[in-house]
Order: sequence, then structure tokens, then C-alpha cells
Amino acid sequence: MVNGINERDARYLDGAFSALEICDDTRELIAGTHREVEFDITLHLAGGERASFRGYRVQHDRNLGPFKGGLRFHPEVTRGHLRDLAASMSWKAALNDLPFGGAKGGVDCDPRRLAKRDQREITRRYVDKVGNLIGPELDIAAPDMGTDEETMAWFYDAYGLQHGDQPGVVTGKPIALHGSYGRRAATGEGVALVTTLAAHRGRVDLDGARVAIQGFGNVASFAAERLREHGARIVAVSDSAGGCFDADGLDVTGIKNRRDRARAEGERLSVAEAAHRGDELSTEELLALDVDILIPAAIEYVIDADNADEVAAGLVVEGANLPITADGASALEDRGVAVVPDIMANAGGVIVSYLEWVQNRQGMRWSADEVQQGMEQRMRSAWERLCDVAESDDCGYRQAAFNIAVERINTAISYRGV
Ligand code: NAD
Repeated sequence: MVNGINERDARYLDGAFSALEICDDTRELIAGTHREVEFDITLHLAGGERASFRGYRVQHDRNLGPFKGGLRFHPEVTRGHLRDLAASMSWKAALNDLPFGGAKGGVDCDPRRLAKRDQREITRRYVDKVGNLIGPELDIAAPDMGTDEETMAWFYDAYGLQHGDQPGVVTGKPIALHGSYGRRAATGEGVALVTTLAAHRGRVDLDGARVAIQGFGNVASFAAERLREHGARIVAVSDSAGGCFDADGLDVTGIKNRRDRARAEGERLSVAEAAHRGDELSTEELLALDVDILIPAAIEYVIDADNADEVAAGLVVEGANLPITADGASALEDRGVAVVPDIMANAGGVIVSYLEWVQNRQGMRWSADEVQQGMEQRMRSAWERLCDVAESDDCGYRQAAFNIAVERINTAISYRGV
């Protein structure tokens, strides 16, 4: 990590600083964190025992607008990792021309081991601790690992008790409580859209193209369904228990339906069990499959120096955040593999979050079609700009993405006279 930013992004950030000839003082302003708070959350759990957790909010940059970033409940949450994720949100917002800076928050609790009542209490106490630093014009939260729309509803309610009713303090809320249509599917839909655009630019015919997707959670499953609708053959998907492969293409909607039905009945069904046909394969084997397009959409750092040479796909789309390490990115770049960076590929979620915030500020609701169009329009225009800069600066997609993001933040800083 450099300045709290992971080695990979720090390298491309440096590349942007050099390309834009940004002076040392401004480099520090852009890379550094604006504010970090850390506190204890102590409560009596449903079982009667007292427990204490560590909570954090990291606010990275506010030059383009209020801070915006998720709230993570995970036992391995650390301040350093949140700092990295907050910076990544700043680049993502700037690249996609959203009027936000980046932030991230978290509590080192394990929601799988906590009663719902305890999760609600932790959320309320978290809001109490950060209450004066957040708000619709200050810092807007959203769901992340371990939190969902219900958590966001508690968040909104707790904030309202202190500050009056302000739905724009948090996005990713339930539809019934000022949420937006389209938020749940947005990230996966955006991944599918960018994959279509990148395939077109790389002259890969999506009709019949072989696609392997690591993961089958929120992002991966919606991306898989949309790409299949566009004619792609989803030959492999996986989850933490492993994956399944079928050269003729998997019925991803069938897999999703069977898995979700089992889940509703309290059972766990892996994708391999839900697939009914095809061969089992490990999630590592999936990355090396002979396919046209590979979409890592599960967890971080799965492609590194050790396995980057095994990637056979000519196009890799980062559905997950940070699925490729610094050395993995260099190895793929050296081999001429086109990689669409996470800050472009998975921006659909934060774009629809932005649209939710806009609806909340106006006190109105748009139809699912209007939200979908708004997201598509923004992603298409960010992608076109990315391609233009990749061409004019003669660089890969990731460097172009950082050049655009840094230039926007730098321009805002100079007009502000900071
Ligand atoms: P999720 O929890 O819904 O799904 C994660 C998937 O990864 C699950 O299928 C899980 O089984 C699988 N998985 C876990 N460990 C694995 C392993 N070792 N090998 C293969 N698969 C494994 O999460 P999600 O919301 O789909 O998020 C996936 C990624 O996308 C994360 O990096 C997240 O930060 C990023 N992301 C999500 C959103 C969003 O709106 N959900 C937005 C931007 C970025």
C-alpha cells in the first residue's frame, strides 16, 4: 500500500500524475485521505452478553461533491483496507462523472453470527457515532459486504431521529422506503453492458462468445443473465464451493432459480449442485478456461503473477473490486490482454445510487425504465470517454480511467483554489 492505496492503483495513479504533470503538493491532496474516524460500538447482544466492536468511517475526497461510499459489516474490516476502498470510490465517481467523492465505512462484526436485532442496534449506534459527519450533502452511505437494504432502512431511520427525515443520507434503501427501482440488478447489468461495449470494440462477436464468470452472487448472476440474453454462451460460473462448466452454455437463470428456491427453504445449494448438467471445476480452473471473455466477479486478488499467464481470454472485465493484483495486471498488459478496470466495469451500482439520491432530493420516483436509461446513458458516455483517452494517450483502459478521474479531481481542486 502507498498512502493507504493498494500497490496496483497507486501505480496507475502515479501514471496519471505524470501524464497530467501534476505537482507534488496536489498529488498529496489527491492521494491522501480527508478524514478518518474510529470508535467503539458496545452493546448487550440478544443473548445477554456485552460485546464491543470497532467502527470506522474513512472519507477520502470531497472536491467533486459529498463523500459517497458503502458500509461494510465484516470481521476482517480494517482501517487500512477501508482507506483503500474509499480512494477507489473517489476514482470511480470521478471517472463516471458523478458529483461525489469517495468514502467507506465499516464495523468489524460478523453479521452471520449476529441476531437481526443486534445488527440493527449496531447500525443505530454507528449512525449515532458518525451522525455529524454524514448527511445528504456531506457523506452518503450505501450497502456493502454484510449489509443490505434492510440495514440501509435502519440507517435512514436512525439518522432521521437526530436530524429530521432525510432519505438522501443513504442509498440502496428498500423501494417502500425511498429506494430506487433497479438498484439490486444495477452493478451486474452495468458489467454486462460494459462487456458488450468492450467486446464490440475488440471485435469479439458476442453472439456465441464463450464467457466464464467467477462468482454467482449479486454482480455475477445478473451479469450472466444479461449477457446470455445478448447471445453470449456462459460456459462457466462458480461460487465459494467451486464451479460448473458446460461448453454448450449453462442455463444461468435455471441455476439462479434453483439456488434461490433452496435458499428460501433454508438450504444451501452450490452452483455446481444447482446446475443439473455440465462438469464440476474449481474456481481457479475457471480462470484458465479457453474462453473469449473472463469476468472475475467474486472476490479480490484472484489473478496474480502466478496465474496471469494461464488466463486464455483476450478480454477480462473486472466485475469485482480489485480482482487483479499489481503484478497480475502487468503480466496481462504485457501479453496484450484487454482489461476493463473495476472502476468502469462495476460502476452501475454507484450510478443507480446517484440516481436514487437525485430522486430523494427531488421527492419523486422514476420508473424502472427511466432509471435503466439513466444508468445506461452514463455508462456509455463514461466508456466512450475512456476509449477516446486510451487512444489519445496511447495507453490501456486502466491508465486511461485513472487519467480521466485524476484530471477531473485536479480541475475541481484548481477551481476551488485549494
Ligand atoms: P455477493 O456476496 O453477492 O457474491 C459473491 C460471490 O462470490 C458469491 O457467489 C460467493 O459464493 C462467491 N465467492 C466467494 N468466495 C469465492 C471464491 N474463493 N471463489 C469463487 N467465488 C467465491 O457479492 P457481490 O455483491 O456480487 O460482489 C462481488 C464483488 O463485486 C465484490 O468484489 C464487491 O465488492 C464488488 N462490487 C459489488 C457491487 C454491488 O453492487 N453488489 C458494486 C460494486 C462492486
